[in-house]
Amino acid sequence: MKMIELIPMVQDEKLSENYLRERGILKTFKKCERCGSEKLGMIRGDRWKCYSCKAEWSRRRYSILSLVRMKYSEFLLCLKCYEIELTVEKCSRELNIYPKTIHRLYTEFRKCICNNYIETISPSAKSIKCEIGSIGIKLLGKKVLILLPGQIDEKVDSVVSIMRKRVPNGPVIYYFEFSKIRDSVNQIAKAKSFSNLGTFWRFVNPRLLNLKGVSNNTFLLYLKELEFRFNNKELLFELVVSNIAENYRVVR
Ligand SMILES: [Zn+2]
Repeated sequence: MKMIELIPMVQDEKLSENYLRERGILKTFKKCERCGSEKLGMIRGDRWKCYSCKAEWSRRRYSILSLVRMKYSEFLLCLKCYEIELTVEKCSRELNIYPKTIHRLYTEFRKCICNNYIETISPSAKSIKCEIGSIGIKLLGKKVLILLPGQIDEKVDSVVSIMRKRVPNGPVIYYFEFSKIRDSVNQIAKAKSFSNLGTFWRFVNPRLLNLKGVSNNTFLLYLKELEFRFNNKELLFELVVSNIAENYRVVR
């Protein structure tokens, strides 16, 4: 959704809420969980009510919005800030919301676009100086796929080994070292290369420069986020919305 379409929506809480429900971020309840009745309705105070057993619950139940206290319009604005790569600090200042709350949401957005799979392979390494391992990059037409440590196979186009170091009294810094696997990778070395891998690294490099002092898991999560951003330059907002809806699916 373009900013110009978002502006009228965020001026109306009802419109914002309806959009979030239509897109599956807010859940639509069909049956009461307590008694199974279908006589449900949305009542004041941001709640659902079962008219049979009188049970009540929040309209945010089972959704990403249950994690934070903010208006529906503020949530949409926060999502927009994330889409256009505004930092947590800038987003916090623009929306007048605590940085901690914005950080919480940004991290959730990241987890959702990576379909939560970082946790499954997390190298629990929290030490300051350690090798994260190597990541692989596979070219799929104009898209790329990043393979995290432990997932690399012989079909990758490039391998990048990453080292984490701490500058005395300074932030943690990541070092990269490339290995060339296929001939196509050699093209990166050429200054005017327009190979997809080269394009990808030109996209990634300036963004990684801003990243200091984060944990290994956050770093890997961020790399996967960059892969998602590179592969989906169009309709990013809509895609993040559907990934959030999908990751906060009601499992019952
Ligand atoms: Zn009920």
